Amino acid sequence: MEFIQKKTADQAVEHFLFKAVDQEISLPWDRFEGQLPECGFCESGLSCRDCLQGPCISHPFRSQSKVGVCGKDKDILAVQSLLRLVLKGTMGNLDQVNDFIEAVSTGQVEPQNKALAEEIIKDIIALLHNGNAEALKSLPQAVTDKWAAAGVTPQGIAQDVIKATQKVEGGITGVEETLLWTIKAALMGCIAKALTGKLKGAVFGDAVPTPVTVNMGVLEKDGINILIYGPVSPVLKAKVAAKAGEKNIKVMGVCTDPLLPPYIFSAVTNYGSQEIPFMTGAVDLVVAADQYVNPSLEGIAKDWKVKIVPVNGLKKTDDLDAFADEIIKQAEEAHNIRRDVPRDIPADKETAMLGYSAETVDAKKIADAVNSGKIKGIVIFSGSNNVKYAQDTEFKVIVEEFLAKDILCISDGEASIALAKYGFLNPEKEIACSDGLKSVLATLGDKMPAVIDWSAADFLQALAGAEGKALSQYPIGAYFAEANRSAEVAKAVTMVAMGVSVYFWPILPITGSTKATDAMETFCSETFGGKLNVVTAKIDARAKAALFLEEVDASPTMSGKDWK
Ligand code: SF4
Repeated sequence: MEFIQKKTADQAVEHFLFKAVDQEISLPWDRFEGQLPECGFCESGLSCRDCLQGPCISHPFRSQSKVGVCGKDKDILAVQSLLRLVLKGTMGNLDQVNDFIEAVSTGQVEPQNKALAEEIIKDIIALLHNGNAEALKSLPQAVTDKWAAAGVTPQGIAQDVIKATQKVEGGITGVEETLLWTIKAALMGCIAKALTGKLKGAVFGDAVPTPVTVNMGVLEKDGINILIYGPVSPVLKAKVAAKAGEKNIKVMGVCTDPLLPPYIFSAVTNYGSQEIPFMTGAVDLVVAADQYVNPSLEGIAKDWKVKIVPVNGLKKTDDLDAFADEIIKQAEEAHNIRRDVPRDIPADKETAMLGYSAETVDAKKIADAVNSGKIKGIVIFSGSNNVKYAQDTEFKVIVEEFLAKDILCISDGEASIALAKYGFLNPEKEIACSDGLKSVLATLGDKMPAVIDWSAADFLQALAGAEGKALSQYPIGAYFAEANRSAEVAKAVTMVAMGVSVYFWPILPITGSTKATDAMETFCSETFGGKLNVVTAKIDARAKAALFLEEVDASPTMSGKDWK
């Protein structure tokens, strides 16, 4: 049985944990403890409920229940558990892509660069229809050649995603082949999402490194506070921000992209503590997406009289201007109703420089720093929070270890917000870094932060393009230190296919099968040059950092890598 002792590294969050105990408010940490012990079959991937003959399990000790009623054995059950997660993550990515394309295509926004926006939309639609070999040309050939050899090159939703869903229905597909279908599905969603990053630039203008404030001290003491939760369509976000700006209303975010030129959405908190901002009493209205938004918000919103507006209702209007007007009106009404709610806003606030890209940092300089031995390697931090770890602690400790040991640290999305709360992305802050790393950061730009916020997709493409080498030829790893959502699993799998060595916690539900875990490591390494390290031992954050450090220090034969 696993109980969380320390719940968070964030003192602003901790302040409200004591209040929650006094007021008997249930938070994710309490609900997690209520779920223990977790089901071992589900945890190890040895369960299935894909049809009505089940649910089935594969029991490690009983001879009678080794295979499901239809004959799925432990190896297939485990690898299909991963496939199911990736399919859901892929659908999440495609849902975001679809919302954005629809809003732009129907003229709800006037793109800054209309011709480019139309071209990117055509590329995305072609990718979704048939794979669009042209769009893939921007990826390094060393990567796409491996995809072609393995049969995972994107060929459109019907071939990549719909067919992959049928693997859990039945048929004769082995562990490695199922894993390749999993990768194929992940690539479709992640490439389409990466293209919408370019669409965002064409529609709103390219983001440049921008100071963004994070943590609950950003909330307004007296004014109206609107919070955007989750990946709400950028077009709707921009309209809400524009209309709010006219009335001097502040719009901030939780688990949402903070940079949408010319608007900045300060990050009030990150995934693990998404319920806590309600307890400040300062939130008037929440605009809620589905992904990254806990259903528990509804209950806590009632306690604090917060209005929640879901963006994906069946009857929502297609007119985003009218929808944004309605959101502002409801926020004003909610603020009036809530005038008697006391506000308790912690002072905690940090500044983070977010939005670096291949346009603003020369990836060739990073490649040179690796080749010359000035830095030992590069690690990308990704993923959100998981209640199974003291919030943000794994990120903090692992980053500190790497910064002290000549590892260049990149972060994106929610991982950036987690690290930003502790100043790692603040260029003005003195953060302990090794001399080698400091000298490299100084070559990358004026006043670079210790950790660089850079979209993983853009960074990997830039690094591979810097010398035309496969990413597997670099000492590069990715850490999903406190992962949670299925989109993060799809992203991790995509990184493996790009040749990156991925470390992922908590352990993925495949450990019930040695064949499945071997496939994630050995088969992926042989096929793509990257692997998903399956670490079953319970180790602390420092030991987790040591895994990559040992990998980059190992001889070529030991590591299986060719970077030395
Ligand atoms: S698909 Fe097979 S293993 Fe899954 S629930 Fe149905 S019979 Fe059981």
